[in-house]
Amino acid sequence: MICSLLWNNVRNLAKKGIKVNYKWLAFLVIAITFFFETYIEWLKIKSAKRPIPDNVKDIYDKQSYNKWLAYYGEKTKLSFIRHTISYLTVFLIIGLDVYANIVKQLSLKGDYLAAVGVFIADILISFIYSVPHEYMDAMIVEQKYGFNRMTKKTFFTDQIKDVVLDIILTSGICCLFIFLHRTLGDWLLLVFTGIMLLFVLLIVFLAPAIGKIKNKFEPLPDGKLKERLFALLLENGCTVKAIYVMDGSKRSSKANAYFSGFGKSKTIVLYDTLLEQMSEDEIVAVFAHEMGHNKHKDTLKMYGISILNVVVCVFAAWKLVSVPEIYLDFGFEKLNYGFAFYLLATVFLAFFSPFFGLFSGVLSRRAEYAADRFAAENGYKEALISALKVLSKNSFSCLAPHPLLVALTNTHPTVSQRISALECIPKKE
Ligand SMILES: [Zn+2]
Repeated sequence: MICSLLWNNVRNLAKKGIKVNYKWLAFLVIAITFFFETYIEWLKIKSAKRPIPDNVKDIYDKQSYNKWLAYYGEKTKLSFIRHTISYLTVFLIIGLDVYANIVKQLSLKGDYLAAVGVFIADILISFIYSVPHEYMDAMIVEQKYGFNRMTKKTFFTDQIKDVVLDIILTSGICCLFIFLHRTLGDWLLLVFTGIMLLFVLLIVFLAPAIGKIKNKFEPLPDGKLKERLFALLLENGCTVKAIYVMDGSKRSSKANAYFSGFGKSKTIVLYDTLLEQMSEDEIVAVFAHEMGHNKHKDTLKMYGISILNVVVCVFAAWKLVSVPEIYLDFGFEKLNYGFAFYLLATVFLAFFSPFFGLFSGVLSRRAEYAADRFAAENGYKEALISALKVLSKNSFSCLAPHPLLVALTNTHPTVSQRISALECIPKKE
């Protein structure tokens, strides 16, 4: 809505003959986003010094608190550096018409070739600064504090797999967009949105298969734990195809669990690290929390939000390609679809993501409280409180993030907020 209003104002100025310089407009929006994101980074740094709430004071002892402080300091510093470099890169790319020059120098003629050229150049440029950052993050900082379990080989193979997948996916989607825009004109809006929604559904159904590209999944071995988990599923009328254990320990010692897929083909994935670090009661409590999400159809609601995102993005992309003069301001001779997608990501989405985040964050945090409540109502209140403490301790969570940071960026309430909410639930008789 806000976007449409702003856009219409800009278009009205252009219609009145007032020359709108789209490059300066992009600079202005990126600068606002940059200052906002810098503020977020600063809030992260500030969160280290906040007093720890009483109900989570026992998570770290003095020694591990000092270790956490050093870890958190290094993580936030690294994140701040990456943030600064990525914005500096965006300013340089736009200021120096880098992508228009690449298209000219390589004589990339034709809509498809020129667009894919911009895509590949952009993915490779971000690859150049993101790989050293990710390497520092995972192989140096996480390694130093004992979280990293990746070998250099796994790290680099992952990076290459990601970049190849990224090039194939984004180029494919962009080429389809070009084809539909050229053949269908404005009908593209309807058809492309439909295709993208099918694509989101396909990703959901293929998620287990996609997961197998990077990880190994073994069925949960028979035993007491498996019996308890299936009994809990049965009690709550849930049907699942299987419970798998994933080798999360291949990459990190941090633990997790999730439901994947839909209907009868649904599977549950437990990280092997979860099984290593928790007692049986705590594992069942985490499982009950995940079941709560499943019972409340939270995944489905989150897909609803993704669908809303897709609709907004397709609409914005269609608006961007319908004004060819934009591209002249960035050094191109005509509309470049690849650059339209670049503007969509770095200007439009970067600016509006915090608004989406604010909205989806509220829903997501509410869903977390409800899933915790579900676990507590199944008799796992104490076990879940203790599991949350184990999870925080083992993943070195920040125990007292700034409230504004939680409101703006967190999908989960803080562990202290979750424990407070759990403590208010009356004990099951
Ligand atoms: Zn959850």
